Amino acid sequence: MSLSGTELNAAVSAGTRVFALLGDPVEHSLSPLIQNAAFRAAGVDGVYTALRCGSEELHGLIRGLSRAGGGGNITLPHKERAATLVDVPNAAVRRTGACNTFWCDDGRVVGDNTDVEGFSRALEHFLQGPPEGFRVLLLGAGGAARAALVALLDDGVGEVRLLNRSVERARAISRRIGGERVRVLAGPEEAWDGAFDLVVNATRLGLDPADPIPFDLERLGRVGAVMDLVYGARDTAFVQAARGQGIPATDGREMLVQQGAAAFGHWWAADAPVAEMRRRIGAVVG
Ligand code: NAP
Repeated sequence: MSLSGTELNAAVSAGTRVFALLGDPVEHSLSPLIQNAAFRAAGVDGVYTALRCGSEELHGLIRGLSRAGGGGNITLPHKERAATLVDVPNAAVRRTGACNTFWCDDGRVVGDNTDVEGFSRALEHFLQGPPEGFRVLLLGAGGAARAALVALLDDGVGEVRLLNRSVERARAISRRIGGERVRVLAGPEEAWDGAFDLVVNATRLGLDPADPIPFDLERLGRVGAVMDLVYGARDTAFVQAARGQGIPATDGREMLVQQGAAAFGHWWAADAPVAEMRRRIGAVVG
């Protein structure tokens, strides 16, 4: 059951904590739907909205919302700038150079990048266990790829082959986050015939139905599983291609739920109602 706008307004009082997604654009974000559903299911007195803002307003909004007892999330294009604006960036923010969640603790603004935990929890949910010792092909070198790389390394993968359209960008994240378990590929042919326990798509290919698939899986020798961070109204073409070859595959919906659940945990010091968040996402996509 979802509350109507009138019912929701009636539940908002002077004591209600205000949370917001800050970014540009924000109009199509699912975070307000998911978080407001979670707030209601958990019976906490909060409201979550989305505010389109430029980088010059970011500092004031992060501080104002946090110091007023609330907090929020950051989305494109501000995640990197936000990492420099919080008082206490946690390890995930420092390692990825990006912040997507903020709140106030003891008068100071704390930041996390819950995409790291969100990726890790979603992958474990999909695999029914951690990816220990896995050989991974990671496609992409943007913000999502950085979060995925940190999570994969922390979760004990054996090695990661990193492939991105712009090789220089892949080299930069490898220098920042990598280490001896990460190798940057100069082009797709360097992965051909390789055996991978897991292939992760962290590029934006698949957001637009006209996009080509991010990698031709038939070129690989063996693939154990495929995780696409992209999600949409139906299974992505990459997920469909993998399943067509008999490879277990999942899209980015569970990661979306889990990164939101980790943010909820920071704000309310309580476990998020994950089942309700999944149900809400399922009702709007897929
Ligand atoms: P980003 O920082 O803008 O990075 C985009 C990535 O896509 C880069 O690696 C870029 O390569 C690559 N790319 C873009 N156009 C391409 C093309 N035509 N051919 C090949 N590669 C191309 O974006 P992001 O924040 O990392 O997000 C990436 C995707 O992950 C988005 O679809 C986003 O929705 C999804 N995501 C999902 C979740 C979730 O919770 N499920 C969370 C975060 C992100 P170059 O470096 O060469 O430009």
